[in-house]
Amino acid sequence: MCRHLAYLGPPRTLAVLLLEPEHGLLAQSYAPADMRGGGTINADGFGAGWYPASGADPVRVRSAKPLWADTSFAALAGATSSGAVLGAVRSATVGMPVVETAAAPFTDGRWLFSHNGVVRGWPGSLASAAAAVPVTDLLTLDAPTDSAALWALVRARLRAGDDPAEVLATTCERVERDAPGSRLNLLLTDGSTVWATAWWHALAVRTGGDHTTVASEPTHAFPDWIPVPDRHLVVARPGGHDLHPI
Ligand code: GLN
Repeated sequence: MCRHLAYLGPPRTLAVLLLEPEHGLLAQSYAPADMRGGGTINADGFGAGWYPASGADPVRVRSAKPLWADTSFAALAGATSSGAVLGAVRSATVGMPVVETAAAPFTDGRWLFSHNGVVRGWPGSLASAAAAVPVTDLLTLDAPTDSAALWALVRARLRAGDDPAEVLATTCERVERDAPGSRLNLLLTDGSTVWATAWWHALAVRTGGDHTTVASEPTHAFPDWIPVPDRHLVVARPGGHDLHPI
């Protein structure tokens, strides 16, 4: 299973947010602490998306390399600041390809999206839900993976103007119905709000007066990380977050 993180707050470099914390995404790529039986390390690629100060749509970089092996990203991360960042490291599910385009975040306009988990019985189990997605979207999936297919389901509803919290919660319910036992930690941001689900996998949130971080695993030993209970949705903004049962 992968690990992911979203941050909203005062601008920080990607290095400060993702690479330097004692248990940041870099550490979680080679020494994750709470994988719950879903793989051992997250070496099958990584990605980061961030919102530039200009207000433009997010910039996204991805790679099929382990995060620790990409010196170009380390250099970029030290020189790039943002107040809204989503990062992910990937552990490919057996049978799914290790390619750059399978790494999160997936993006569309203002949106950045990541999935940490697995859809049981994919692809057949998703076929019924995917019938509601435009065929062109299915023909142009980023990669033949469960996560890219989940993004197509979510993106179609976001494009239709549906409420993001509702979209994530009902996507979990629908996929669980069709693919019982799936792990569906979904993470979505538009640069102002973070929506995330905990569905049979680790998730924690830490919010202060001017910042919030939602992450698979706490990045520091601060005491104010709150574990997100299973089958809950967290809606987080700098200064506050809410937890809702799904
Ligand atoms: N199952 C997905 C993939 O292989 C998600 C990554 C993960 O959480 N292992 O791409």
